[in-house]
Amino acid sequence: MTDLATDVLIVGAGGAGMYAAIAAARAGAGHVLLADKSLVGRGGATIMAQMTVAAALGEECPDDWQAHLDDTLAAGRGLCDENLAALLCRDAPARIREMAEWRVGWARRENGRIAQVTAPGHSRPRCCYVDFLNTGPAVAATLRRQISQIGVINRVSNLAVTDLLVHDGEVAGAVALDIAEGEPVRIAAKAVIIASGGLTRIYQRNSASANMGGDGYALALAAGAALVDMEFVQFFPIGHLAPRVVGMDPIMWDPFRYKLGGRLLNRDGREFLADYGSDESAGYTTPRDIATYAIQKEVAAGRGSPHGGVYLSFTHVPRHSLEAAFGPVIGRLAKNGIDLARAPVEVAPIAHYHMGGIAVDPDMASSVPRLFAAGEAAGGANGANRLSGNAIPEALVFGEVAGRSAALLAAKRPMSALPSGAGADIVEQIRSLADGRKGDIAACELLDELREIMWRDVGPFRSAKVLSRAIVRTEEMRAALPKLSLPPGRRFNPALAEWFELRGSLIAASAVAHAAAARIESRGAHQREDYPDSDPAWARSQRITMTAEGGITLGPPQ
Ligand SMILES: Cc1cc2nc3c(=O)[nH]c(=O)nc-3n(C[C@H](O)[C@H](O)[C@H](O)COP(=O)(O)OP(=O)(O)OC[C@H]3O[C@@H](n4cnc5c(N)ncnc54)[C@H](O)[C@@H]3O)c2cc1C
Repeated sequence: MTDLATDVLIVGAGGAGMYAAIAAARAGAGHVLLADKSLVGRGGATIMAQMTVAAALGEECPDDWQAHLDDTLAAGRGLCDENLAALLCRDAPARIREMAEWRVGWARRENGRIAQVTAPGHSRPRCCYVDFLNTGPAVAATLRRQISQIGVINRVSNLAVTDLLVHDGEVAGAVALDIAEGEPVRIAAKAVIIASGGLTRIYQRNSASANMGGDGYALALAAGAALVDMEFVQFFPIGHLAPRVVGMDPIMWDPFRYKLGGRLLNRDGREFLADYGSDESAGYTTPRDIATYAIQKEVAAGRGSPHGGVYLSFTHVPRHSLEAAFGPVIGRLAKNGIDLARAPVEVAPIAHYHMGGIAVDPDMASSVPRLFAAGEAAGGANGANRLSGNAIPEALVFGEVAGRSAALLAAKRPMSALPSGAGADIVEQIRSLADGRKGDIAACELLDELREIMWRDVGPFRSAKVLSRAIVRTEEMRAALPKLSLPPGRRFNPALAEWFELRGSLIAASAVAHAAAARIESRGAHQREDYPDSDPAWARSQRITMTAEGGITLGPPQ
C-alpha cells in the first residue's frame, strides 16, 4: 500500500480543484496533492461547459457586482446564502480577467472588448464565452497549463478518494483507490478540499460526464459535515431529445438561444411560455425553473412533441445568421441530419446542475475542522435556482478562496503522520472487494436502477408518495451493498470503482430524496405536485447530516 503526505489534498481536478491548487500554491503551500478519479483537468463538468460565464465586467454596458448579486438572489427564489452569493458575484470579475491574462481566449468584439451576452435572469449583458461552444475546454486547458507550471502542485490521475479520515473530530487525510492498480492509497493531509463536482449523473436523463455521481457529498456526510439545499437539482429545460445526434452535447441549444432567440413551441406549433407567466418578446429570458415547469406541464397535458418534449425552432432565422453565429457547429449538425433553417428539434428537461451541496462559510470551510469545499460540491450560493453562467465563476471563485484558506490553515500546523491504524478498515475493505464476491446482482445494475428511480420519483415533479418510494428503495440498495457480486482482480477492474461509485451515489440520492420529501412546498427547481404553491414559511434552507449508524437525517432548519 502507498502512503502519501501533503499540506493540502484536493479531491477533484475540475475548475474548482485546479483553481484551488493554484491559490494554495500562491498562499505558500509547500505541497499540494491534486487528485482526480479521471484525468486531471479532463473529467467532470468544467471541460463540458459550452458557453456562458457570468461576471459583472461591464464590457458592453455599465454593470457592477451588486447588480449581479441582485439577479442571483432573485433567481434563487429567496434561498441563496447571501454571503456566498455576494462572494461569487464580487470576485467573479477578478477571476475572469485573470483567466484572460492566462490567454483563455474570451470572445471579443471588433473594438477588442470582451463580448458579453444576456442570459435568462440577468438584467444586462454579463455572460462571456469562448467561441464556438468552446468555453469549458478553453477554461480547463488554461488551468491545466497553469498548474503544470507550478512545482508544488502534484497531479495524480485515476485516484478515487473513497473515504476521509477523521481524527479527534478533525479531518486528517483520506483513503483513495488507485483505479489502475486496484490498490488502496492512504494520504495524510493538513487540510482537505472537496472539489468533486455535482451529482447529476444519478439521474437517467442528464448532461453529466461519468464522474458526477455525488461522491463529494457522501464523503462530507460520512466525515460529519452538513449538506445544504440538497433538494434543489437544476433541470436544464431544453436538453436535446430528437432527432438522435452523435458527438454533440445535449445542452448545446442554450448558446443558440442566447445568440439567436429561438421559439419554444408545443405540438400545435404555439409558443406557450407566456401561459406560464414568462414573456419572451424581448428575447431569451425565461429562467430554467420556469421553463422546465412549463415544458413538463405541456407534455403532461398531451401537447408535447412525439418523443415526449416540445419543439425548439430556429426556422425563422436566416441561414446566413445561423452560420455567422455558430460557424462549424452548423456543419456538425448537418452531419447529424439537422438543418435548423428547415425544421425544429425536440427538447426536454435533463438534470444539469446541483444547487445544494456541502455547507460552507465564506472561507469555504465546512462544519468539520480542516475540511473545505468548492465549486459545485459546495452548496448554498444559488439557492433554489441557479442563474445561467453562475456555475463556472462559482467554481473559479470558490476554488480560489478554498485553496487560499486551506493553505493558510495548513501553514499553522506541522506535518504529522496519520495515527497508526488510521483507515485500516477502509484499506481492508478495498482489498476484500478486490478479492471478488459472489452475489446475484452487480453494482452497475443497481446504478442503472438508481438513475431510473431518481428520474421517475425525484425528478422535475415530486410528491410524498413517490419520494417515500425512492427513499425506501435507496435504503434497500444501501443495505445490499455488502452482498453485491464483484469479479476478483485488482488491476483495471472497473467493478471496484463502480462499487464505490454506487455507494456514494446512493448516499447522495438519499440526501436529495429526504430533503425533497421534507420540503412541503414548491420553490424554484423543487416542484411538488401535492404542494404546488410556495409557502413563505419555507423561505429557509434545510441541512442534512449523517447519523453514527450511517442514516440520512434532517438537521435543524437554517
Ligand atoms: C454539459 C454541461 C455544460 C455546462 N455549461 C455551463 C456553462 O455554460 N456555464 C456555467 O457557468 N456552467 C456550466 N455548467 C456547469 C459547470 O460546468 C459546473 O458547475 C462546474 O464546471 C463545476 O466545476 P467543479 O470544478 O466544481 O466540478 P467538475 O468540473 O465537475 O470537476 C469535478 C472533478 O472531480 C472528480 N471527482 C469526482 N469524484 C471524485 C473522487 N471521489 N475522487 C477524486 N476525484 C473525483 C471528477 O472526475 C471531476 O474531474 C455546465 C455543466 C455541464 C455538465
